[in-house]
Amino acid sequence: MAMISEFVTNPAGTRFPTIMLEDRQGFVRSLRPNRRVVRFELDIFGHPLRIGISFADRPAELAELVPMARQITDRITRLITRNLNFSGRKIACQKGCAHCCYYLIAVSTAEAFCISNAIFALGAQKRRMLIRACCIAGRNTIASIAQNPTTGQDTDQMDTLQNLSDWYSNLSLRCPFLADDCCQIYEYRPLVCREYFVLESSKPCAGDCADSSRRVNIPVSIAEILAETCCKLQGADNTVILPLAIPYAYDNPDDARRTFPAETLVRTFVETLCDNIYQNISNVEMTSFQL
Ligand code: SF4
Repeated sequence: MAMISEFVTNPAGTRFPTIMLEDRQGFVRSLRPNRRVVRFELDIFGHPLRIGISFADRPAELAELVPMARQITDRITRLITRNLNFSGRKIACQKGCAHCCYYLIAVSTAEAFCISNAIFALGAQKRRMLIRACCIAGRNTIASIAQNPTTGQDTDQMDTLQNLSDWYSNLSLRCPFLADDCCQIYEYRPLVCREYFVLESSKPCAGDCADSSRRVNIPVSIAEILAETCCKLQGADNTVILPLAIPYAYDNPDDARRTFPAETLVRTFVETLCDNIYQNISNVEMTSFQL
């Protein structure tokens, strides 16, 4: 799998990705006046979070949305955890705790391509280890699908998702990227992993992903917004379970390399974010929008 990223270089030699998050001072735009930026402000539980997405006027792949989406997710979760800490609530998640790495993780196609690109860019030894772990996990998952009790049942979507989660947890298949209870792709881990936090104690997480009472409520899920963005852009309702991300990217090289104008990618992402905020979420609102 080739990894193709487009960058522009400013006169000082700094390299910029086609799509990236602006820093707080609008630094990127001032250095590259030929770039454009979409700015908006999220209200996260009463706290403003200003976001600026800067993009160059050229084509980009779906995977190039992912670093920007990760940065937005990290800013949202940082703000939420800081506020929880101020109010005396304790986040239980910490390095070495990996109960949630046995849950069913679904990623958007953009993330499947991006994670696959990152793994193929690793050194040979780590790359081989992770690809082998993915092959084993993928094979075990597929072998277990035939025993899935939900197959063929006439249930509504929420029931099906819950049944799928329960079924997957019962398989006790750990994430292929987990070794020694640590994430081996921490820098590139999926958005859903970044958005998952529990309060007080992580002990009840073992084996019970249905208990959402201690889960920190993230008012806007960038993971879901990116997945919806990919569905709109690709015209297909595709999400990929994490153990199959590499095989999916390998089997769909044309989709991985397909390019869109960067403006189309950014516009679709921001419009999807707006739609979600207005339809489903009361704690977040778009206060300004410029392009
Ligand atoms: S990608 Fe990392 S954090 Fe996410 S489930 Fe796998 S091991 Fe855990």
